[in-house]
Amino acid sequence: MANYAKPLPVPDPVTKPYWDSVKAHAMQLQKCAQCGKFIFYPRAVCPHCFSRDLRWTPVSGRGTVYGFSISYQKGMPAFGAEAPYTVAVVELEEGVRMMTNLIGIEPDPNKIKVGMPVVVQYDDVTEAITLPKFKPA
Ligand SMILES: [Zn+2]
Repeated sequence: MANYAKPLPVPDPVTKPYWDSVKAHAMQLQKCAQCGKFIFYPRAVCPHCFSRDLRWTPVSGRGTVYGFSISYQKGMPAFGAEAPYTVAVVELEEGVRMMTNLIGIEPDPNKIKVGMPVVVQYDDVTEAITLPKFKPA
């Protein structure tokens, strides 16, 4: 954990509640009080209706694979040590999509399917930062 060598997010006042919720293993996303839509990534203004009335709301952590790619690149040591690995876009039940890693399944295009159900798995990569990854549900 102490030797984590990949780039880490740097929470700012807008994104900190998100990172805090992930660290607590209880993901929350912004939901617009005006139009009712969830949004991701965290922002100060709703991209759908421009409201600033965004409320942090617990989400299920469940979704489906929207798309994925398997990386075999070993150019950057911190990433290459884990290659091959799967980078995916997951669509949460709440409608937003997030880029993540698929874990708990071989990085094999014959095993991973678009539309397959997945659930969040919290990876405490440092004392301060937890990353949300997804595994087959
Ligand atoms: Zn809105």
